[in-house]
Amino acid sequence: MRFDHPNPWAPRQDLKVWLNGRLVPVAQAAINVFDHGLLYGDGVFEGLRAYGGRVFRLDRHLKRLEDGARAIRLELPMTRGEFVAAIGEAMQANGVGDGYIRLVVTRGVGYLGLTPARTANPSVFIIADQIELYPRELYEKGLEVVSASVMRNHPNALSPRIKSLNYLNNILAKIEAGDAGVLEAIMYNHMGFVSECTGDNIFLVRDGTVQTPPIHAGILEGITRNAAIELLRRRQVCVREMDLTRSDLYVADECFLTGTAAEVIPVTKIDGRPIGDGRPGAVTAQLMRDFRELVKQEQ
Ligand code: PMP
Repeated sequence: MRFDHPNPWAPRQDLKVWLNGRLVPVAQAAINVFDHGLLYGDGVFEGLRAYGGRVFRLDRHLKRLEDGARAIRLELPMTRGEFVAAIGEAMQANGVGDGYIRLVVTRGVGYLGLTPARTANPSVFIIADQIELYPRELYEKGLEVVSASVMRNHPNALSPRIKSLNYLNNILAKIEAGDAGVLEAIMYNHMGFVSECTGDNIFLVRDGTVQTPPIHAGILEGITRNAAIELLRRRQVCVREMDLTRSDLYVADECFLTGTAAEVIPVTKIDGRPIGDGRPGAVTAQLMRDFRELVKQEQ
């Protein structure tokens, strides 16, 4: 039994976690084994990013958290203002001005059995630290991705619009990426159309037009996705939200992913096929610069 297997990716020892109203040393930041977030993946979360001490589009993240909680009938135990204050405390306690913040709300401690009626209060915790999802050089060279065989959640089952604690199908897709020796995988929906990657939204560029799956394709409505659409349109680039097939990916001139942790990253190979000339394209490069500028402006 490997109960004490050392984890080389363990968080730094001096990290303090905001847990149910208190800042606790990471070693003591523990969740009860009867918490339904753990037992059933019953909860919602957000991944946020701070630039220069300010969280990028915090209100939109909190709105998505509120909508997700509502969709799973979880009554949030804190107001928006209280979340803002708690996030600030977690950032300050860990000296995070530029970094990544994970906010998690679980159904709370209950007992065995699915019913949320047997849980007491939702648990809330906030981790403020650093994240490097992809190595720096891939932002210049581009990322290689593969198509996953596991599909994205059917929107009528667990809606991908809800950023719930139930990420198992995305994890299975991520494992497929690992098996293929790459860092990310594209997931398709129940109709066979492109939905998104395991933790990022996806975009293509074809003949100067940017294409991305619509919300109804079963995707998370990414905050970075929406910022990218805004930035592209500001430059008069035509952005179309449309159903995309696997062959649309293969004939694209450019491809890129967006996400809070990833920001904007070019994709230069899909299923072993080079995209465009196999190097990040001009539309992607311009968007990456514009995104850097935007986060600076909104600081
Ligand atoms: N899709 C999925 C499945 C995600 O988990 C995320 C967040 N990591 C995204 C897309 C990107 O969303 P955002 O830009 O809001 O981080």
